[in-house]
Amino acid sequence: MANIKTALIIGGGIAGPVTALALRKAGIEATVHEAYPSSAQGVGGTLMVAPNGLDALRIIGADEAVRAIGLPITRMVMANGRGKSVGEFPGLPGMPPSLLIWRSELCRVLHRHAAAHGVSVEYGKRVIGVDQTATGITARFSDGSNASADVLIGADGIRSAVRMLIDPQAPGPQYTGLLGFGGRAMGSDAIGRPGAMHFVHGKHAFLGHWMEPDGSAMWFGNLPHPTPLTAAEARAVPAAQWLETLREVYRYDVPGGALLAHTSPEQLLVTGAGEILPPVPRWHRGRMVLVGDAAHAPSSSSGQGASLAMESAIQLARCLRDLPDVATAFLAYERLRRPRVEKVAADAARTNNRKASGPVAKAMFSLLMPIAMKTFFTPEKMFGSLHGYRIDWDDVVTA
Ligand SMILES: Cc1cc2nc3c(=O)[nH]c(=O)nc-3n(C[C@H](O)[C@H](O)[C@H](O)COP(=O)(O)OP(=O)(O)OC[C@H]3O[C@@H](n4cnc5c(N)ncnc54)[C@H](O)[C@@H]3O)c2cc1C
Repeated sequence: MANIKTALIIGGGIAGPVTALALRKAGIEATVHEAYPSSAQGVGGTLMVAPNGLDALRIIGADEAVRAIGLPITRMVMANGRGKSVGEFPGLPGMPPSLLIWRSELCRVLHRHAAAHGVSVEYGKRVIGVDQTATGITARFSDGSNASADVLIGADGIRSAVRMLIDPQAPGPQYTGLLGFGGRAMGSDAIGRPGAMHFVHGKHAFLGHWMEPDGSAMWFGNLPHPTPLTAAEARAVPAAQWLETLREVYRYDVPGGALLAHTSPEQLLVTGAGEILPPVPRWHRGRMVLVGDAAHAPSSSSGQGASLAMESAIQLARCLRDLPDVATAFLAYERLRRPRVEKVAADAARTNNRKASGPVAKAMFSLLMPIAMKTFFTPEKMFGSLHGYRIDWDDVVTA
């Protein structure tokens, strides 16, 4: 063991509490420091927790609590804008379904689980600097306070401050060329199939939708847009104005036209620019290391951001548990994680290109997809190694 007894975790989103719980299981005491003054109540839209993420949560005993708040997605249906299904992916045999979860709910459950296991979370602690010595590290916070431990773990998301402290030349997030929207369609006839996530490559833009247990329809869309807008900038535009644009964009699509027609301005969710993080050259320096979106944030198209963060959290804890010093542990962690997360990010970038493509490419997609489904896009090839990733907690990590 790297003789690590204590850890400071910066960021109390998803990776933060999972890392704290995994470290605790490894015998390391961790405290979470979150920049926001309170928990993530009501913040964020929905995200997917895939079978690989759920299995990571099983290791820290949080899988059942998370399962209880998720909507199981048992099938993915790809369709073109005329409403014609061009491919279906059922869940893989022997694997649990992916879960669709409100991010704020996931945060709430993970924080509750962490508190029940003695992890303390300090709010209003925005890290602004660090001081490292041969034996420890001290984080400095914007409120003038500081905290010390053996290692510091940056779980502070796609705009990570810790990433910049590790390497001031580190890349930041890049705009995907797509703005994100979502909403609930009220009072429409049933749209979609229960338990299915539908992905529609429409005439002008992409749209995903699913049916809630009460029969109402939820949707999310990606609108190609030349310039990035933060969520705040996008929300400064009146919702009614965005709705008008979205209705025009989706008016010829099935069921996009109906979904947008039944969404009111009050039910429109505006999330701003879609972002992707290019490969981060340095994941660690001295006693600092990154986990989750701070190190690897694939586009939301992957449906893997949260699940990869959970996997990385568990693997980092195993490395710190088993290896003789911090440097060896961080190197082993990077070796275990980098190839997998960079492959997922590259695949998601290709999906984004398809979403932003023009009408000709969209027509080709619609034509070729059914053929591809019979050959190389089989569910096993698409999701086997992605969703089937399992971590053996008891296996000892070697350098
Ligand atoms: C407000 C918000 C809303 C989101 N909504 C969605 C969504 O609707 N759909 C989706 O798929 N993904 C969403 N995400 C991203 C999603 O949570 C992540 O992709 C994924 O779950 C990995 O989690 P993470 O813990 O690595 O990063 P995040 O979930 O981004 O958590 C990072 C945490 O670090 C904190 N932090 C940042 N800087 C500092 C600092 N300097 N000091 C201390 N703390 C800091 C942040 O406040 C945040 O709580 C959202 C993230 C945030 C922060």
